[in-house]
Amino acid sequence: MKKVVKFGGSSLANAEQFKKVGQIIHDDESRVYVVPSAPGKRFSGDTKVTDMLLQAYAMAAEGQDVTEQLAAIKARYDEIIEGLGLKNFTLEPDFAVIAKQLAEDPQKDYTASRGEYLNGKIMAAYLDVPFIDAFDVIFFNDEGNLNTYKTERQMRAALEEHERAVIPGFYGHGKDGNVKTFSRGGSDVTGSIVAQACKADIYENWTDVSGFLVADPRIVADPVGIKFITYRELRELSYMGASVLHEDAIFPVRHCGIPINIRNTNRPQDVGTWIVESTGQKPDYVVTGIAGKKGFCTVLIHKSMMNSEVGFGRKVLQAFEDCGISFEHMPSGIDTMTIVVHSEEFLPKEQQVISAIHRLAKPDSVEIESDLALVAVVGRGMRSASGTAGKLFSGLAEAKVNVRMIDQGSSELNIIIGVKNRDFESAIRAIYKSFVGGVQ
Ligand code: ASP
Repeated sequence: MKKVVKFGGSSLANAEQFKKVGQIIHDDESRVYVVPSAPGKRFSGDTKVTDMLLQAYAMAAEGQDVTEQLAAIKARYDEIIEGLGLKNFTLEPDFAVIAKQLAEDPQKDYTASRGEYLNGKIMAAYLDVPFIDAFDVIFFNDEGNLNTYKTERQMRAALEEHERAVIPGFYGHGKDGNVKTFSRGGSDVTGSIVAQACKADIYENWTDVSGFLVADPRIVADPVGIKFITYRELRELSYMGASVLHEDAIFPVRHCGIPINIRNTNRPQDVGTWIVESTGQKPDYVVTGIAGKKGFCTVLIHKSMMNSEVGFGRKVLQAFEDCGISFEHMPSGIDTMTIVVHSEEFLPKEQQVISAIHRLAKPDSVEIESDLALVAVVGRGMRSASGTAGKLFSGLAEAKVNVRMIDQGSSELNIIIGVKNRDFESAIRAIYKSFVGGVQ
């Protein structure tokens, strides 16, 4: 059994957290490859080391002196080094290199990546295992995307040389020869790449929550946790705003069926959430998760006999494409077609889009409605359960939520409903109550 364990920033924010992580690793022999993030927040209102580094970069790029900023960052690491009692270990030379680089040729990605790099060095010293620099084993291509082929080969070769190792998250080797980072939260992706390369049995992703919850706890008080979720369900939920894991983190492991187990560093006794390819485990509820976002607009296009006009849909979508706007959903009726778009992207160009629709598709009318929120109700159990829609809509009716749009994906994995922005929270609470119960 071989496990890759990734620890998020809050799990490594100070020496006390580091010790918990050390214990978790020692508790299980199979936790062989460790992927650390940079130190995160120690308390609410604190600043993540990555943000401190980005601040230092911004100052250096404007030609300002960053001595104080770097000293504050170094203090964060020194606190950890001292708290762990690491003798004969110092990051002094590393900070000298960073200071020189910032003074001579400030680079954003390089600077941001040092949070993980330095934390990885501490972790390797603390666990007394080799350190593998992600710069030597993760590669990006010309477009700035992961070069999967080269990365897999180099990473595998490096891991084969070490039974145990620490590989810092978040960055790799850009095509131009400089350090390049993933987008924020990208250490999750590194963990997934390491798991794929060493053909791990499990990718454990340790964070500060005990996995995914059925609904956002800021909306539903004390929601129940999700024990099992499939990669596809997770895609739907994270697209709709549920965030625990970086969106791209599932791709490398999904490809080879390695399950991801989300765990809580502060509550290692909790089983967390399993993200899997497929499962025969009966979900506790028909609905696996509920997530949503505010800030959408609908563009309702009406044209008599639309259904018999070949190419009408294409012309309408062409209008959106010409204006550089992507659409989210497209429910349609006999003589109507509705395009759901992000308000932020759409509103500045609305008149341009309307005239393009008129020019290209010659509709009878175009009507825009704003302030729409979308709620995704996701569940692999929905396909085989009858009465799901009935339950969903009677719950919403009871809560006096007016449903403006319905879109059920053909996968029967999700139902998307559109409601007014102001009804967003009540809609989520009503759906939760219908499927899980227990909401005041
Ligand atoms: N430290 C980086 C960030 O704050 C990457 C990570 O934590 O995954 O986004």
